Amino acid sequence: MLRTEAAVDVTAIRDNVATLKAGTVAEVMAVVKADGYGHGLIGAAQAARAGGATWFGTATLDEAIVLREAGFTEHVLGWLWTPGESETVRSALRAGIDVSVSNNWQLETVRLAASDTARIHLKIDTGLSRNGATAADWPALVAAAASAQAAREVEVVGIWSHFAYADEPGHPTIGRQIAAFREALDVAARAGITPQVRHLANSAATLTLPEAHFDLVRPGIAVYGLSPMPGRQDFGLRPAMTLRAAVAGVKRVPGGAGVSYGHTYTTGRETTLALVPLGYADGIPRRATNAGPVMINGSRFTISGRVCMDQFVVDVGDLPVVSGDAVTLFGPGSHGEPTAQDWAEAVGTIHYEIVTRVGPRVPRTYVGQL
Ligand SMILES: *Cc1c(COP(=O)(O)O)cnc(C)c1O
Repeated sequence: MLRTEAAVDVTAIRDNVATLKAGTVAEVMAVVKADGYGHGLIGAAQAARAGGATWFGTATLDEAIVLREAGFTEHVLGWLWTPGESETVRSALRAGIDVSVSNNWQLETVRLAASDTARIHLKIDTGLSRNGATAADWPALVAAAASAQAAREVEVVGIWSHFAYADEPGHPTIGRQIAAFREALDVAARAGITPQVRHLANSAATLTLPEAHFDLVRPGIAVYGLSPMPGRQDFGLRPAMTLRAAVAGVKRVPGGAGVSYGHTYTTGRETTLALVPLGYADGIPRRATNAGPVMINGSRFTISGRVCMDQFVVDVGDLPVVSGDAVTLFGPGSHGEPTAQDWAEAVGTIHYEIVTRVGPRVPRTYVGQL
């Protein structure tokens, strides 16, 4: 086996998207931002397409352009860009990428960058207070977009927003955001803008809130098989990523041996230490010191001592472990290995961060059939 690898099950991604698609009449935009949540942009997008995704969503325009350069002809929307990126906007528009617009400077940048009619999605902030125009700024943005549309400079393909609390069904914010979204659509309609696609739903809303599906849903984490509500594992999703490494060395040490920087772990008796060639440079949280779970040869252990930049150590007791044996940090959990959710709980974060932070030094390998 490789020194380290993030093995991505493309069949799982395909099936997850098919499951999401079966639960809605809307089209599916697979969100593949941040290198496909760490799974590899191209591999994830191919698998999502095989499952029925007809749109892709990225945060940056650069990610969207990479998809086009790789030959993807589906709709692609990029939504996070800054005033210094007018050249990137120009490239994106030339590549037929849809660009999100939240305010007047973005609309102006798009108008100036467009050589042909630019496809835009106007974003309304319905309560997340992140990207998107406020309700106060919305009428002016819509009016400016309507005149740019009349001049054929832009086509308002979409109107969209994003939830703050979709993973807490019944939270009062959800209903308020849906109502604010409908109000924004009405304001746009009165200004003559009736987009082809209205979209609001992330993974949690795709799985639990059909009234928020509109014309297009935007699942991200669920595409990769992780439940957006860790308390619910009944959505029929399969985690796609398995992170593993080969043991780089083993040694017998006596009791009382201090392990790794600062000796935050000390062996209790004579034991075997296994060296694992993954560290915080690879995205293993340093918070996993004496906390991160692993599986070696069918047995579960906890990291012993500090996670270093490139490596950590596991006290495996008297278990026969040899150099080259596989250490699984997380996977689907179907063979007793820890899951990304276990890691999230061990280090105080969410599984989104665990899979997304796996670094570029770890090769992504692809298993399964499309
Ligand atoms: C990341 C993101 C999504 C997907 O969210 P998940 O919770 O991963 O499904 C959808 N829409 C926007 C705007 C996002 O930033």
